[in-house]
Amino acid sequence: MRTIIQLVCGTCARFNYTTTKNKTRTPDKLEKKKFCKFCKSHTEHKEKR
Ligand SMILES: [Zn+2]
Repeated sequence: MRTIIQLVCGTCARFNYTTTKNKTRTPDKLEKKKFCKFCKSHTEHKEKR
């Protein structure tokens, strides 16, 4: 079972990506370095619940 989650920029708090994750395997909040087109740089993206 994989759940669709939204990745939100940690700097501007805007939504940039969707991804999927396995909630049973990864119970913690997901954090990924991704390019934010609003900040125009790589920022930490956090999972939105
Ligand atoms: Zn941003």
